[in-house]
Amino acid sequence: MWRSVGVRVLRGGGAGQPRAASGAAAAQLRRRLENELEEIRGAGTWKNERVIASRQGPHLRLAGGGAGAYGEDGEGSRGLFMVRCFSFSFPVGILNFCANNYLGLSSHPEVIRAAVEALEKFGAGLSSVRFICGTQSIHKDLEEKIARFHQREDAILYASCFDANAGIFEALLTPEDAVLSDELNHASIIDGIRLCKANKYRYKHMDMQDLEAKLQDAQKHRLRLVATDGAFSMDGDIAPLKEICQLAQKYDALVFIDECHATGFLGPNGRGTDELLGVMDKVTIINSTLGKALGGAAGGYTTGPKPLIDLLRQRSRPYLFSNSLPPAVVGCASKALDLLMESNAIAQSMAAKTQRFRSKMTAAGFTISGKEHPICPVMLGDARLAAVMAEDMLNRGIYVIGFSYPVVPKGKARIRVQISAVHSDEDIDRCVEAFTEVGRKHGALP
Ligand code: PLP
Repeated sequence: MWRSVGVRVLRGGGAGQPRAASGAAAAQLRRRLENELEEIRGAGTWKNERVIASRQGPHLRLAGGGAGAYGEDGEGSRGLFMVRCFSFSFPVGILNFCANNYLGLSSHPEVIRAAVEALEKFGAGLSSVRFICGTQSIHKDLEEKIARFHQREDAILYASCFDANAGIFEALLTPEDAVLSDELNHASIIDGIRLCKANKYRYKHMDMQDLEAKLQDAQKHRLRLVATDGAFSMDGDIAPLKEICQLAQKYDALVFIDECHATGFLGPNGRGTDELLGVMDKVTIINSTLGKALGGAAGGYTTGPKPLIDLLRQRSRPYLFSNSLPPAVVGCASKALDLLMESNAIAQSMAAKTQRFRSKMTAAGFTISGKEHPICPVMLGDARLAAVMAEDMLNRGIYVIGFSYPVVPKGKARIRVQISAVHSDEDIDRCVEAFTEVGRKHGALP
């Protein structure tokens, strides 16, 4: 038996067991892959997946548990954790501070009920892409609701926001056009831009001088599109959209924002970064996800001008050539939007808890990057410190993630904490207390 982390590879292939392909090419491929995997381990960037045995929420139950257990194979596979490798022990029940479940809707009873009802009424799935036999009334209703939520003309659903980002630039931009992208934009924006034939400009992160210089250079092109994350998930910082929109106006450009870490909770009514910064009428295109604050199931969308959405239905490849969103997933997102449009109480509750965490941690002596955002990176600088502190937090039953180079710049290692509306004040306080103890123990605090 060959054994690699979290994956069991068996020779032979008895009944019900995987078979290893034979032949020189297959053997060569296996060697190459194993070398590459070894390099990833050697670089300390191996990512492992913790197995959760409960619903997503502030309190999780992990499968297995105890020293070094990881997964359910009963063979004591070693837990390799975060961006660095560690074996560790952890309690089975933990307090979770690292999901994008900002509004706590992933396990909201009404969201779950809506999914069950959609499943019962519309079935498991469509076995089709949208334009062949895959559009149900609930897809159209959800698209209409998304457009209304963002106060835009129309919306189009995708299987994910990754797909929405992969599908927009190629459909919209030609070699006559230009796209100007923040250097720290999400990987899916980067990939989407790679797929298009427009002229590409990368401006320094949130640097308006650099953006202006690039916009001046891009005047020679037919159309200019500035693309930015609304909120950046590594730092919890928010794009200077007001300034970006002013520059866009000055240089006759369009603005595109990815609102995955903003939709549902930023701004007075949770509409997102454009609402927070008072530029809802200046941003032309929004892409966002249904897989974070809006119920957390899956799915993404583009919302904006109707002719753009019509064009995407004709030309956007991830939309045209991928299955329709399953009804249960549509049901979840639709109910999440209903809840948010009824009241902003959930978003306000999350904002209050974020404020509680940020102010208590700052008072304890920690530096928290960004402001107002529920992504609260606890800045530690040293990669090893971030790793051992995150490990020690988990030993105390609190799940947070340490990030270090190459995920974030060298010398800027941090532990990322994400606050949810369903954390109680006691949960927040417990997390701060654990940070304070662990910080003192490892020298991050005096
Ligand atoms: N854009 C940003 C900024 C994200 O953080 C993510 C998810 O991590 C995505 C896009 C992709 O979203 P989805 O999970 O819906 O594919």
